[in-house]
Amino acid sequence: RIVYVNGDYVPEAEAKISVFDRGFLMADGVYEVTSVLAGRMIDFAAHMARLRRSLAELEMDAPAGEAELEAIHREMIARNALEEGMIYMQVTRGAADRDFTYPEGAEPSLVLFTQARPLRDTAGARNGIRVITVPDIRWARRDIKTVQLLAPSMCKMAAKTAGVDDAWMQEDGVVTEGTSNNACIVTAEGTVVTRDLSSDILHGITRAAVLRFAREAQVKVEERAFTVEEARAAAEAFVTSASSFVTPVVEIDGTAIGDGTPGPVARRLRDIYIEESLKAAT
Ligand code: PLP
Repeated sequence: RIVYVNGDYVPEAEAKISVFDRGFLMADGVYEVTSVLAGRMIDFAAHMARLRRSLAELEMDAPAGEAELEAIHREMIARNALEEGMIYMQVTRGAADRDFTYPEGAEPSLVLFTQARPLRDTAGARNGIRVITVPDIRWARRDIKTVQLLAPSMCKMAAKTAGVDDAWMQEDGVVTEGTSNNACIVTAEGTVVTRDLSSDILHGITRAAVLRFAREAQVKVEERAFTVEEARAAAEAFVTSASSFVTPVVEIDGTAIGDGTPGPVARRLRDIYIEESLKAAT
């Protein structure tokens, strides 16, 4: 695999980052993950807009202009002959003597790598996934897409240990989101319900696209908090993310959702998402 590190495209074994990089020492960095279908990127402009916002919230300089970042993404697709999979991009504040205040004049570090893997035809899409609910132990600025991912890693490990696919995080019985996706349910009336935007959740790019496609397809959408109890009794459940698109959830805490198979609303929204995203891919 060819990776990108601060201006160079190098084999992954030759890539180097300083031990004083604040991304490494303090998780002082942000990232974006963009999916690639048929060698083209899905929703790239929206990922760039969220990156800009994450950087601004942390008073961090952009490592390069947006045209250059896009060119680097394209070069990574070409050099890795990526047809289907993910491009990961990470920006950290850079290397500086260890101190809690932001250093002045540090050069941001920019790293990209690709992950080739099937996104359209997956076991999760075919069979749905099973989740457990766990306490949301993350910090209070989940709207910033930082590389500080230990809490969701712990939550996902709890799911793995429990023998299921993922965890939905909850606070006081109210669902925030999945460990790396936004959580949605479908009511008996066919309304898609997902948590409203705030600093409690990541503002998913896929969430926004799916809600837009749902509204265009005359599917009712409600952006509001919902409880674990409401989710367990829902007609359907699903998650959205750049890497999973729309993936049905068929079991929550051992309770089957609906008839325990992927529901029609989730399957339809997945099909629409893939079709429309391919059309608009760049
Ligand atoms: N929520 C969390 C906590 C995430 O980590 C992610 C993606 O990594 C998402 C939601 C989904 O966001 P997106 O659709 O932009 O991939």
